[in-house]
Amino acid sequence: MSKDIISIIVPCHNEEEMVPIFHKEIAAVSDQLPDATIELIFVNDGSKDDTLAKMKQVAALDERVHYLSFSRNFGKEAALVAGLRHATGDYVAVMDADLQDPPEMLVEMFALIRTGEYDCIGTKRIDRKGEPPIRSFFARQFYQLINRISDTEIVDGARDYRLMTRQMVDAVLEMTEYNRFSKGIFSWVGFETKYLPYENQERVAGQTTWSFWSLFKYSLDGIVAFSEAPLAIAALTGVLSFAVAILGALIIVVRTLVFGNETSGGTSLIVIILGMGGLQLLCLGILGKYLGKTFMETKRRPLYILKETDGALPTGRKEEQNDD
Ligand code: UDP
Ligand code: MG
Repeated sequence: MSKDIISIIVPCHNEEEMVPIFHKEIAAVSDQLPDATIELIFVNDGSKDDTLAKMKQVAALDERVHYLSFSRNFGKEAALVAGLRHATGDYVAVMDADLQDPPEMLVEMFALIRTGEYDCIGTKRIDRKGEPPIRSFFARQFYQLINRISDTEIVDGARDYRLMTRQMVDAVLEMTEYNRFSKGIFSWVGFETKYLPYENQERVAGQTTWSFWSLFKYSLDGIVAFSEAPLAIAALTGVLSFAVAILGALIIVVRTLVFGNETSGGTSLIVIILGMGGLQLLCLGILGKYLGKTFMETKRRPLYILKETDGALPTGRKEEQNDD
């Protein structure tokens, strides 16, 4: 049987310590994969440290290693797209540089995907060890919420770490949206995915770039990208408050007819005005969020700008390659 190529895409943002360590780990794993050739693609997502220099060093030593470098930080989602576009593998894996995604799992993933039964072998954390409890709490709430309001299933604990067939990668690349929420995209394209559970790993070196606030914004983006429920809720709130207003009007008319006109209730009026004003602003805000996303989509800006690549960087497999 001829050897399959496995492309491994590694987005890196300030990972100077991790690049050499990661490469060593992958080299070890590739020795356990006699039926496959590895193609390692590092994507430097605007790192401020020596990540790019480290990538160059590793690429000089090992011809299986390639790198792409962005002109600034465009975010992990963009880095993933860049990697996917350039990958030539029959199978493509995406993996974090910090070894929180255990590379040795690749052996099992490869064996499974090769059976042809699945199009994608994903990974799922069975616990959230080492994570602040408050963050785990909000994460769980987020998954519950988004799965209730979105048709696309977002699996709780699922990582981006996965091995996909070429067919699925091409499908993911068909999705040209600017606001990319990978967890949703991988699920939206469909295909048969099997999740392998594993225990949460702590970062080997370096620091996570996710703050609580950025995770919060990320989850909002996810909701806006894969659900229209907030718009429906806004409309429903309008209908409900209108119904309450009609009811209130009826009560006032009846009360005035029965008890005569007592002009009082200035304070409750203020409360009602404030409440209604608040609701209106909230609904406007929701609308604005979707409008803003639409605005960004219509600009059709590139997802990333490449500044530098290695000379031997593959151009991917898709016929029309455009690095926009
Ligand atoms: N990353 C990236 N661009 C960014 C932020 C992160 O390419 O703007 C990379 C980072 O180098 C790592 C992966 O995405 O390889 C996951 O990042 P991190 O470990 O900070 O996230 P967490 O594991 O906490 O979800
Ligand atoms: Mg991490």
